[in-house]
Amino acid sequence: MIKTELHKIPKKFYCECGKDYVNKQNLNQHKETCTYTPPPPPPPPAPPAPPAPAQDNTMLQMQMQQMQIEMQKLQMEREDKREERREKKDEKRKMRE
Ligand SMILES: [Zn+2]
Repeated sequence: MIKTELHKIPKKFYCECGKDYVNKQNLNQHKETCTYTPPPPPPPPAPPAPPAPAQDNTMLQMQMQQMQIEMQKLQMEREDKREERREKKDEKRKMRE
C-alpha cells in the first residue's frame, strides 16, 4: 500500500496519481496541473433481473396475492390512524363539554 511506502520513505511527497516528488513545492506545482481524479466508487449492485415469465401463472398469482395482502395491511394501518384521530377529536370534544 502507498501508506506503508510513505512510512518507509518519508522524504518523498506523493500525489494521488502515483507520482512522487522529493520536495513539497514540486508536488504542489504538479498538483496544479495534475488531472488525476480518484476512481469513482463502485456502482451500486444492479437490481435483480425481472423473473423470467413463468409458464404457468402460479408465480404471478402468488405475487398478486402478496400485493393484495400488502394493500390490505396498508389500508388497515390507515384506518387505525383514522380511528386514532377520531378518538383524539372525541377526547377534545369531551374536554370542551
Ligand atoms: Zn498527480
